Amino acid sequence: MISWLHCFRPEARQYHGGRSMKEKNCSALGSRKAERERVPDKEFYRNLVRRLHRVMIVQQVVLNSRPGKNGNPVAENFRLEEVSIPDTINEGQVQVKTLYLSVDPYMVDPQLVDGHLSYFLGAIGMPGLTSLIGVQEKGHVSAGSNQTMVVSGAAGACGSLAGQIGHLLGCSRVVGICGTQEKCLILTSELGFDAAINYKKGNVAEQLRESCPAGVDIYFDNVGGDISDTVISQMNQNSHIILCGQISQYNKDVPYPPPLPPAIEAIQKERNITRERFLVLNYKDKFEPGILQLSQWFKEGKLKIKETVINGLENMGAAFQSMMTGGNIGKQIVCISKDISL
Ligand code: NAP
Repeated sequence: MISWLHCFRPEARQYHGGRSMKEKNCSALGSRKAERERVPDKEFYRNLVRRLHRVMIVQQVVLNSRPGKNGNPVAENFRLEEVSIPDTINEGQVQVKTLYLSVDPYMVDPQLVDGHLSYFLGAIGMPGLTSLIGVQEKGHVSAGSNQTMVVSGAAGACGSLAGQIGHLLGCSRVVGICGTQEKCLILTSELGFDAAINYKKGNVAEQLRESCPAGVDIYFDNVGGDISDTVISQMNQNSHIILCGQISQYNKDVPYPPPLPPAIEAIQKERNITRERFLVLNYKDKFEPGILQLSQWFKEGKLKIKETVINGLENMGAAFQSMMTGGNIGKQIVCISKDISL
């Protein structure tokens, strides 16, 4: 058995689904001479263990040490380890292979979030940047111009921040649209929205007319569909849609962004309403100043942060489903562990 394994050529160790295609034929590749000349090395024992125990040996990178205060990361901060996982794929499991890893220079200084680490996934992370950069780049907010902003999906991760940012950058009135009375109350009593509309109750168009007597100048659109059609119908000449997302359309077979119904598209054109695609990932140069701005507003108490936390990795699917159906207020988080020790 050992001599059979011993005859591996290095180039034959091309793992394919955990096993080498060439390994199967390796006895044909070896010779007694090669066998005598080769001294068992680490790779030899590695393969032996793998075959005997029917395991795959995979590599993982772990944090070995921290760079220290004001220190630059060095290679020694990371440690490469080998761990074994079963060689077999069971029913319901899938095998994946990592092709690329991302190493973003992402700022995760706990001081930016006053130690509230999950905020890096929400308000002081991607959703916060989406709201901030979306309003800055596509909102055309002009302080002192008496602008009214409407936000749909207003109690969610992006929406709850977008409305507050609208105020912070100079909108005089901010109105949120969301799916429950509880959310409406939080928007107006905690997050500074001037009015909130529950789109599941009553006539949205009427309530919007009452809430926005001077029409809508900026629409931060998270949802699309009927709600957006209603808002666009009440938008002013030369106003702006921040096309953040269209969640009501995601499970439909439509292109992105979904085309507006003809009557609404006609309004958009007649009133010269901008509706440009917006993707936060296209603004990476604005991430660092954005994070610092969001953190500063948070620390000054100007940006209120809401999140809905579900505990346990096993509940990730339920958390996603809940978020898609409006179960969250602020950012939906799944907490895996609060223990930060290694
Ligand atoms: P979220 O708002 O925290 O959660 C989704 C919310 O959408 C739910 O809580 C629910 O609240 C609402 N919703 C679900 N189905 C709806 C429907 N059919 N009609 C109306 N509202 C519905 O999610 P998020 O992460 O902040 O994302 C919000 C939007 O931003 C999404 O469209 C997302 O794709 C987009 N996004 C875009 C970018 C970008 O770069 N452009 C980046 C991040 C996120 P209710 O109770 O109010 O129904």
